[in-house]
Amino acid sequence: MSSAPAIHAVQITSHGDSSILTYVTVPKPTPKPDQVLVKIAYSGVNFIDTYQRSGLYPQSLPFILGREGSGEIVELGSDVKGDFNVGDRVAFVGPGSYAEYDAVSTHSVVKLPDNITLEKGAALLLQGLTAWTLVRQAYKVEKGDWVLVHAAAGGVGLLVCQMCKHLGANVIGTTSTDAKAQLAKENGADYVVDYSNGYDALIEKVNELTEKKGVHVVFDSVGAATFDASLKVVRRLGTVISFGNSSGAVPPVNIMRLAEKNIRLMRTTLFQYITTREEFNALSSELLRLVADNKVHFAIHKVYPIQDVKQAHDDLESRKTTGKLLLKL
Ligand code: NDP
Repeated sequence: MSSAPAIHAVQITSHGDSSILTYVTVPKPTPKPDQVLVKIAYSGVNFIDTYQRSGLYPQSLPFILGREGSGEIVELGSDVKGDFNVGDRVAFVGPGSYAEYDAVSTHSVVKLPDNITLEKGAALLLQGLTAWTLVRQAYKVEKGDWVLVHAAAGGVGLLVCQMCKHLGANVIGTTSTDAKAQLAKENGADYVVDYSNGYDALIEKVNELTEKKGVHVVFDSVGAATFDASLKVVRRLGTVISFGNSSGAVPPVNIMRLAEKNIRLMRTTLFQYITTREEFNALSSELLRLVADNKVHFAIHKVYPIQDVKQAHDDLESRKTTGKLLLKL
């Protein structure tokens, strides 16, 4: 039996649909030598949380959900000196953030500037760094490129649109409703196609806009449903970046399909771009600079009390949301 004080957290003991999400008591974590203990104010909700809940990305159980958050440092691990202090307002990427307290490695913690609220801080990192690494590392978007962003009004999608526009690209987005299309346009998409009834209109529009050449790059977070269309609309020597499974995982691919146009295909995850503290610091500094310079802004869809976590997952999975969902602890 642990003698640690109890805290509240969303901990799963099996994989399944959102009905398994319960707010329970667990022992308060103790920071390891390289960790800080954060009293969480807000936790970001991401699609990956739904994969970890459902078992698409299986976890050893029991497991506290959540991959990012913001709050105040309340305790330092024994090796943490200089960079962080008790009382610092921080945001972080790390497991276990659907909880009142989380012990997180200093590797991926960032101090928040005074002008960034804790609410905004919890919305920044996971989707912001994902978007920034997509357009800078997975494929270096250049001025004049034709770029296709699937789910353009989603959390990551809105950011990719803004960043591509900032980098001078021509941005085509896909969304499932007119309201989402309007939002994508306000966030940098030059053209938006509704893909809810199939992909013929998308293929036609890309052909029309690019003189039948196709786009230089597709950023595809939707996965199973869009993958074939992504291969169709990319140009010869173009790039398809698959980085999500919102409609289900992409089935195994016969690589001979790439030979038709010498397509580059990547399946990326943010975590492989931030494996060292130096990588995390460099990328998060660039992201905070973009925010400070008003080059990107983060649209918060809704803040849910942590007790409404089931509703947050249901809303995200049923395509009802745009931008960022947060849980308030
Ligand atoms: P979003 O806000 O983008 O929500 C998902 C969107 O996908 C929906 O709003 C919907 O937009 C679209 N969609 C299309 N088909 C479906 C479907 N069958 N079910 C549900 N949604 C569908 O979520 P996030 O911004 O949190 O994440 C976007 C994607 O990026 C996810 O797939 C996530 O896994 C991935 N991701 C990957 C990372 C990585 O490191 N590889 C890191 C972060 C996110 P519409 O209604 O317009 O079709």
